[in-house]
Amino acid sequence: MTPQATLYPANWQTELRQSQLSIQQLLEHLELTGTSAAVSASSAAANQFPLLVPPAYLKRIRKGDPNDPLLLQVLPAAAELESHPGYTQDPLEEEASNPLPGLIHKYHGRVLLVLSGACAINCRYCFRRHFPYADNQLGGEKWQHVLAYLTERTDINEVIFSGGDPLATSDARLERMIKDLDAIPHLQTLRIHTRLPVVIPNRITEALANTLKASRLNKVVVLHTNHAQEVDDQVVAAITTLKNSNTTVLNQAVLLRGVNDSVEALKALSQTLFSAGVLPYYLFVLDAVAGAAHFDIPDSEAIQLVQALQREVPGYLLPRLAREIPGRPSKTLLGAHTP
Ligand code: SF4
Repeated sequence: MTPQATLYPANWQTELRQSQLSIQQLLEHLELTGTSAAVSASSAAANQFPLLVPPAYLKRIRKGDPNDPLLLQVLPAAAELESHPGYTQDPLEEEASNPLPGLIHKYHGRVLLVLSGACAINCRYCFRRHFPYADNQLGGEKWQHVLAYLTERTDINEVIFSGGDPLATSDARLERMIKDLDAIPHLQTLRIHTRLPVVIPNRITEALANTLKASRLNKVVVLHTNHAQEVDDQVVAAITTLKNSNTTVLNQAVLLRGVNDSVEALKALSQTLFSAGVLPYYLFVLDAVAGAAHFDIPDSEAIQLVQALQREVPGYLLPRLAREIPGRPSKTLLGAHTP
């Protein structure tokens, strides 16, 4: 099926399946054959980390623009094959904080559960692009072990669903899991880190909204949006459904060379998110994952950008510039954000 034929699929599972396309299909659909995008594209990079882009996201990429900020996030590029000192397969050393399959326990009071290795989109800068998902499936008995761990550790009050994308999981499975968590008395908050409401907005189904609404836990969804162009009316509708299910919606972004490395882009992102009812939460500098060095922005430049942004927006639209440093008890904030 051609990308053109898939613009309005019936449901999110169909759209998830239709996210796979070849570099040639992508370039032809976007009228980019013979441009610099075709020159930088690399099937060897796609063999290492496949090209995945769902139809709802594809239609937001401008045709004929090789520098489109959404395109740059998904196009497998030859630059990914270069090796750079300090860039590794596991930049956050998560395998050292992985006491049970599917459970990452790095920070006091909260654990991260890897619900699914699947994503609807493959972001070329993803710090988990080399994560051993096959060893971290949470099916059957392993889920019972996770529940036992959470029940025993009364110091844990927040569970974070992560991935891959945790919302690549079915509504029925999510409902069962959330009910199991509801039954552990010391848990207070469920946080879901996801890019799916942005890249396939119709993932936010009524069934999922009802499951969230029914849970006794505080619910927080942290979206991953890097550019204002990623937010269209369908995304706004998905966010509204989430908010109507008693869920706080925040955003985290990654600062990426060529994508959002300007005050104008960051300001537009904060303002667009706020208009949709979302507060900007974190702006992360790039994690040093092998294959993503061409997206990097030095810390000094990142700090200057955020300081300039601070002069243009009210405090509630200023994301916290941060880096995750392995072994630290929390994220590390960068810069004083002083004007
Ligand atoms: S959606 Fe998230 S986990 Fe999946 S590739 Fe993108 S950044 Fe990585």
